[in-house]
Amino acid sequence: MIRSRAAVLTVSCAPAPYAVSRPLQVVELGLADPSEGELLIEIHAAGLCHSDLSVINGSRPRPLPMVLGHEAAGEVTATGPATEGFAVGDRVVLAFVPSCGECGPCLDGRSALCEPGAAANTAGTLLGGERRWIADSGEQHEHHLGVSAFAERTVVSARSAIKIPDQLEFATAAVFGCAALTGVGAAINAAKIQPGESVAIFGLGGVGMSALLGSKLAGASRIIAIDPVESKRNLALELGASEVLDGGPSCAEQIRKLTSGGTNKAIETAGNAKVLEAAYAATARGGTTVTVGLPDPSQMLTIPAVSLTAEERTLRGSYLGSANPREQLPKLFAWWQEGRLPLERLISDRIDLDSLNEGFDRLADGSAIRQIMVR
Ligand SMILES: [Zn+2]
Ligand SMILES: [Zn+2]
Repeated sequence: MIRSRAAVLTVSCAPAPYAVSRPLQVVELGLADPSEGELLIEIHAAGLCHSDLSVINGSRPRPLPMVLGHEAAGEVTATGPATEGFAVGDRVVLAFVPSCGECGPCLDGRSALCEPGAAANTAGTLLGGERRWIADSGEQHEHHLGVSAFAERTVVSARSAIKIPDQLEFATAAVFGCAALTGVGAAINAAKIQPGESVAIFGLGGVGMSALLGSKLAGASRIIAIDPVESKRNLALELGASEVLDGGPSCAEQIRKLTSGGTNKAIETAGNAKVLEAAYAATARGGTTVTVGLPDPSQMLTIPAVSLTAEERTLRGSYLGSANPREQLPKLFAWWQEGRLPLERLISDRIDLDSLNEGFDRLADGSAIRQIMVR
């Protein structure tokens, strides 16, 4: 058993601003030694993502108390039994779905849908079904998506860890774990963007910017990037967007006019059913609309049902970039090394473990792209 400071969420739905209500409390917890198939990780960097915010604001209910954070990179400092391929000192990024490698979806190459991985994530345990966080009261705390990265140290399943190149600094490496995997994967695996196609990207946070970079990598000829925040639109232009829009009520109509009927592909990353409706409306006949957002479960989507058939439209969701992180991440690392995936440009702020509540205020008001907790 070791000790680790960790940011714990005990109650969801705290009122904003979080700088005042302080839903995340940094406390010292016990952390049991890694068991079979598990690694002890020293966390060096962890991104603040909308999926953390969704647990804080209650739109994605999870068992509590929980140590949040699911986009992270760090160093292996101890290995449990049966962790072949990993050694102390390995630098790793963590994936937010542990893939067992043996269930039906894993064998079909759809690790994002790993059944034991999803069950463990919903239950707040590691892949092996157990919890390693123990408060001084003796109460166990939940793991967030098998990662729990807002901490000094964490224990993860080795099935959640992927080694990173030596040249990749931890803060940028963390971005690969959720934003890049999700956004680039949405563009290349889910939207399957082909050279010369047009794309509209709704929402320019870490995932949306990654989808933009992925669209460029795939050879999109025209990328329309949409976000109400001007600084994000400016960065999108620097990263290769052809045009930017502020996402007002006539946005879909504007895109249809600009492109004479809509874009071949549209990717929605805002996590809002109304934005998804706009993305669908901005997609051309025969086109594909992809969503990676996680709207509040109460939100319903309304689209003209006939359009699916009459216009041969495709509407699909994408989780974890519709990829196997173990196969996808090495490709993303190679693109980064070639300079084609400048994810460091997405990092807007570096903060410490004690400033997470203020960070989630900035995430909620849209003023930050990717904030990284660094240690
Ligand atoms: Zn995330
Ligand atoms: Zn599996």
